[in-house]
Amino acid sequence: MGVMVVDLLSVYGLLLKHFGRQKWWPAETKFEVVVGAILTQNANWKNVERAITNLKDNDLMEPDRIHRISEERLKALIRPAGYYNSKSRKLKEFTNFLFDNYNDLNEFLALPLEQLREQLLSLWGIGPETADSVILYAAEKPSFVIDAYTKRIFSRLGLVNEEIGYDTLKNFFERSIPRDVSLYKEFHALIVELGKNYCKTKPLCGACPLGKECPEKLKHKVFIPG
Ligand code: SF4
Repeated sequence: MGVMVVDLLSVYGLLLKHFGRQKWWPAETKFEVVVGAILTQNANWKNVERAITNLKDNDLMEPDRIHRISEERLKALIRPAGYYNSKSRKLKEFTNFLFDNYNDLNEFLALPLEQLREQLLSLWGIGPETADSVILYAAEKPSFVIDAYTKRIFSRLGLVNEEIGYDTLKNFFERSIPRDVSLYKEFHALIVELGKNYCKTKPLCGACPLGKECPEKLKHKVFIPG
């Protein structure tokens, strides 16, 4: 058995060196983060961007405007992001909840982290990944975001079991690295870059910036019979 030398901060350092700062989330306002976090469920970001552009071109990227427009119109505008029936309902549920309980988005996002997370998770269509994205990138509070890439990469690195649950993996990150909003933001964005570019379903280990540290790499070595 080899000794596991890789730790989370050294993984972070290697990713940062390779990809550079990602400066996530790509959004102009806090509300745009919320909208993007909902629209990106089961969708690729290019299509989400098209839906966001539609909303902005129609001057709708404000909570009260989404709150007021008809669901039919909303569906048509966010159609490029896919699942537009459920996503328009999710956006409506969010803005209904917001204006039933708060004066504006800032008041809601100012809640203490645990309370904010609990309220987000109580909403229809908001699961832990969406909730934590909103908390980290819109409320700018330290809640580590876990996604499918995070599970795949860190189980391949041998740090966690691939069956690990969302909260267990989130706690693992939060216990292992300093509780820092910028670090959490940047680390998640870098994990997504690695997953998109190298640690795909069929990983490209040869060029991966974590190649030297990764036990999984051995399994994907191309064997050239000589
Ligand atoms: S070396 Fe391969 S399996 Fe390991 S993190 Fe990189 S791409 Fe993923």
